Amino acid sequence: MNTPSPAPAGLTVNGRTYAWPRRPLVVVCVDGCEPDYLTQAIATGRTPFLASLRDRGVCLTADSVVPSFTNPNNLSIVTGVPPSVHGICGNYFWDRDAGAEVMMNDPKYLRAGTLLAALADAGAKVAVVTAKDKLRALLGHRLNGICFSSERADQTTRATHGIDDAVALVGLPVPSVYSAALSEFVFAAGVKLLERERPDVMYLSTTDYVQHKAAPGIAAANDFCAMMDGYLARLDALGATVVLTADHGMNAKTDAFGRPNVIYLQDILDHAFGAGATRVILPITDPYVVHHGALGSFATVYVTPPVTAADAGARIAALPGIEVVLPRAEACARFELPEDRVGDLVVVSERLTVVGTSRERHDLSGLDAPLRSHGGISEQQVPLIASRPAASLPPGRRWRNFDAFDLALNHLA
Ligand SMILES: [Zn+2]
Repeated sequence: MNTPSPAPAGLTVNGRTYAWPRRPLVVVCVDGCEPDYLTQAIATGRTPFLASLRDRGVCLTADSVVPSFTNPNNLSIVTGVPPSVHGICGNYFWDRDAGAEVMMNDPKYLRAGTLLAALADAGAKVAVVTAKDKLRALLGHRLNGICFSSERADQTTRATHGIDDAVALVGLPVPSVYSAALSEFVFAAGVKLLERERPDVMYLSTTDYVQHKAAPGIAAANDFCAMMDGYLARLDALGATVVLTADHGMNAKTDAFGRPNVIYLQDILDHAFGAGATRVILPITDPYVVHHGALGSFATVYVTPPVTAADAGARIAALPGIEVVLPRAEACARFELPEDRVGDLVVVSERLTVVGTSRERHDLSGLDAPLRSHGGISEQQVPLIASRPAASLPPGRRWRNFDAFDLALNHLA
């Protein structure tokens, strides 16, 4: 007869130590969840579970990673460390070795193992569900467990995703990649997985389709939060600890008439220094740009001699709508980014403004609502909420969204 080996006391991953989960843990990354989405929804009375946590849980405001984009932050949350360690600093970057602009969603760019994979290797049952398939390979890197996306839930196999026929498990049709239902599928899958598979640790990551369109308090945003609240309540009722955070916030990037405030930075730099003298890279760029036109509040710029970073930086810093321009080393120190994947300059625009490359490279025809986006320091603050109280929290600590597992495993009662 096999005697189950006792659970390890804890494990150390990327230099941080975590206690072993004592009950099922569900960490939820709500894409684009500006804290005010929850405040407004709670005020409507339609999110009773979240409202109840005020008295029995923990609510912190945490800082995400800048650039406040999806992939750098999801990877920070599951590795517990910033991009300077795990390497993923955007959706997209200029690969100097390859001499090409490439997507950064291949696990070959990941420089640190995930806590999820380490927990699974140490014997935990781990499940990951993400809305968009672009994150699946990164989140599931070397993970011996379940990992699939809503987007491709009809294609899961036990060999690749740790589960056959995820659609049958969830009992919902595969949603459109541009829909609130894509995120609902993630939550529904989480509940079914907790019921059927009882994972020790689950990571659920949604998409910000709704948040790109609807400001906090708008009907669609409150509907989203109410939907989410129902599923979180079920996870709680099934005995899981629920920790909720976000990859980044979200803000209107428009003037008072709702027209986008865009700095077409490549056009400006070409005019100032000549075509080809600089290269503006927007790490928000990805295959799904309909809802934001590839416009966000963060850019990185490569300069070619005789243009210097100081010349270009001074020119950019003088533009209205720019919050900060930093040379590479300073930017990487401040924002904890990998120097070899960042340009000579890092440019962050202010809350109401986004940065583009050239006007003709941005198709805004798909925008059916005033532009809302993220990427900057202005979208750095996110909620960090837990469904159980904390024994004690260190006073004065700067919490990060990538402390979600630390909070859950090391600090909750
Ligand atoms: Zn996101």
